[in-house]
This record gives sequence, structure tokens and C-alpha cells, in this order.
Amino acid sequence: MQYRITVHYAELALKGKNRQQFVKRLRQNIRRKLQSMDLEWEVTAIHDRIFVKAPDTSEAQAEQVVAEIARIPGIAWLSFVHWFEERIHRFMRPQPDLQPLHDLVKKLAEKHHRPGLTFAMKVKRSDKNFSQTSQQLAADLATTVLQETAWSDVDLSQPDQTFYVNVSSKGTAVYTNKIKGTGGLPVSTTGRVLTLLSGGFDSPVAAWLMSNRGCNVDFVHFSASHYKQQDVTAYKISRIAQIISETAGKVRLFVVPYTHFDMALMAHDMAYDLILFRRFMARVAERIMGQLEAQALVTGDNLGQVASQTMENINSMNQAVTVPILRPLLTYNKEQIIEMSQQLGLFDVCREPYKDCCALISKNPKTRSDARELHRLETTHLTDYEDLINDTLAEVTTVTYNFGHLVEVTAGEWT
Ligand code: ATP
Ligand code: MG
Repeated sequence: MQYRITVHYAELALKGKNRQQFVKRLRQNIRRKLQSMDLEWEVTAIHDRIFVKAPDTSEAQAEQVVAEIARIPGIAWLSFVHWFEERIHRFMRPQPDLQPLHDLVKKLAEKHHRPGLTFAMKVKRSDKNFSQTSQQLAADLATTVLQETAWSDVDLSQPDQTFYVNVSSKGTAVYTNKIKGTGGLPVSTTGRVLTLLSGGFDSPVAAWLMSNRGCNVDFVHFSASHYKQQDVTAYKISRIAQIISETAGKVRLFVVPYTHFDMALMAHDMAYDLILFRRFMARVAERIMGQLEAQALVTGDNLGQVASQTMENINSMNQAVTVPILRPLLTYNKEQIIEMSQQLGLFDVCREPYKDCCALISKNPKTRSDARELHRLETTHLTDYEDLINDTLAEVTTVTYNFGHLVEVTAGEWT
């Protein structure tokens, strides 16, 4: 048996040149994902679909690939197709042997049977040389299902389960339900963003939302301690970046110790430390963005979720840099974020304890920030901000992933 995957893309409203580029990119992203799984399968775009041909493979492997492709951004839905190559099966002959087709439909019917449900058989023939009409073949196949499986009710208008058979001169496709994709736009079509990644639930979901909207994503994480270069990939933060890269492709994670910032403020117990830290993170990130040619910074901020996430504090962070800061989760509920985290396979990693980030969280964070006071604190305590940023960037460790695979770990790129 041969298998094929038919991919229908999302955002059908896209028109003209854009659309062509998006399709080309989606096709490339699917091909790269397959290559990352060591599969050199043919991926072609014909009319308004993308076809993936699985050459010699088992049904189990083909199903696994379908599940992986369904996670790639830009796909509305896909179908897993059992394919009878015409030159082998020759259903187009005047007197074809349709037994293999009946056998397969029966097998699929058994697999999908649920008591009390109804089914429909939908047959299309795009080549009129086929010996039967579509209605005839549909009736014959439905009879096989009714006589040889536990299905007992046909409903053509609102079936619970549909079996599709498309006969053409190239071959015959048989498939069942449509598998839902994640929608959105293909990665690498809308820009590059750098995400501030912490150890919580929010920022990974924020990053995924941006990548599902077509952005390339990279991450920067500020850690309280120095990671040993050989250990960095085992940390929670790296595993989060790795999971995002499974669908986002190439992803870089910059791990930056904030010891220099910490030391500068250590002697002073001040109420503004959290917002000063946010401004520091934004400024360091802005410098990294310059190198990456990233167009926006992304955070997992959520209005009102914690005492520090106020409009005033958001503004104070924005005012520290000139790059735009996007906050895709600003209006989400915590339950929605947790649910997405579960669906994306991020929940288990994100719930692991992570003490590294909390060193700077004050007990009573300021909910309002006074711009003049912030300026005064920064000019008093962080007297040479440029040096602070340079010293911090000198200690960056960079971890690169590609479709879930570790590419390299490097240190000190920004010295
Ligand atoms: P999250 O669930 O993403 O940790 P949170 O609800 O815990 O968010 P905060 O800890 O206030 O909220 O952080 C708000 C945002 O600031 C995070 O979503 C993240 O984008 C960024 N951030 C916080 N701490 C760090 C850090 N150590 N390194 C990088 N980014 C950080
Ligand atoms: Mg947090």
C-alpha cells in the first residue's frame, strides 16, 4: 500500500503574490521537517494543495508523520490518503479487479466503527473511463461495509463518518476524516522576533503564537547563575526552546547571566528592582536583536495577572527601548494559557520547579512606576549602562536547535 498526505492550507483569503510565496514557504517547511526525520519524501504543490508522497513505508510510520506535519504552522487541515497507483492496480481497465479497494474500505470501516453512528460513502471520479459511475461504486462499497462490518446506518446528508474515494487515471485515493492543523501562517513569512523566555507557562505560549503567525522566533533567557556550557541543554529553558523548534524550525536560545546587574543593585534594597530588571532585559535584548535583524521583542506579559503586570509597568519597559514589544497573551485568561500549553506539549516541562529566575522578584513589587524616579535610580546605581550591557553580553551562551534537534552550543558570541 502507498500513502499520501494531502495538505490544505489555512488563510485562504490570502491573494496574489503573497499567496504564492506562502505556499512555497509552507512546502519548504514541510520538506525540512521531513528531512529532520530522515525522510526524503516528495513534496509538491498542485493547484491549491500540497501533496506529500510517502514511498515505501508502514502505515504506522505514515500516521506518525501525519501527526508531525499537522503541527506545522500554516495548515488548515490535512488528510491521510491510502493510494492505489493506477499502473499497479489498473482500476481503469474495462473490467477492473476492485477487490483490493473493497478490502481497504472494509478495513477502514472496521477501524472507525462506533456503535450507533452513521456513515456515508463519497465517491468522485475525475476520469470518465472508469467502468462504473460514482453512484454505482459508492453503492457497492457501502454494501460491502453494511454486509461485512458492524456499521448498520447510512446517512448521506449528515453522516458521523465519511469515507472518501477519488478515482483518477493516475490512481485511486481513499481517506477518512480530515485532520485539523493549527492554522496560522508558515514560519518565515512575516518577520523575525526575539522572545524573552522565562521559566513559566506564559512566554513559551507567547512564542508559539508568534511562530504560528509566521514569525521566525529566537529566545533570550536571563539566568541568575552561570550555566556550564556542557550542561545547558539539560536545563528546562533549553528544553522549552527545543519543543518550540520542533515546529518552528531553526531557533536560537541566548542564555545570559544577569550577575552584573545583580551586583550593581545588590547593596540597595529598592522597591523598583523588578521594573529596573525588566528595563535591563529589554535593553540587552534590543542589542541582541540588532545582530539578529529581529523586528520585535515578545514577552509573555498578561495584563493584571500578577501585581507587577500593570499598564504603568508595561509602559516603563517600553520606554527603555526603541524596538516594539509585542505581548500576544496580554488579554488571555490563565486557563486558556494553561490549556494551550498542554496542547502544545509544553505543560510538563513548564511546571517543573525553576528557582533560577526568582532571585530578583521583590516581595512587594511596585505597581506604578514613576519615570523620573526610574531615571534617577538608573543614573545613580547603574552609572555605566553601556558597560553593563557589554559585560553581560560577553557571557552569553547560545544554543541552536533545528526542528527539535540540537545543532550547537557556543559561548561568548558578543565579546
Ligand atoms: P511566565 O509565565 O512567562 O514566566 P509570568 O507570568 O511568570 O510569565 P513575569 O515573571 O512577571 O510573568 O514575567 C513576565 C514576562 O517577562 C515573561 O513572560 C517573560 O517574557 C519575561 N521574563 C521574565 N523573567 C525573565 C527571565 N528571567 N528571562 C527572560 N525573560 C523573562
Ligand atoms: Mg515568570
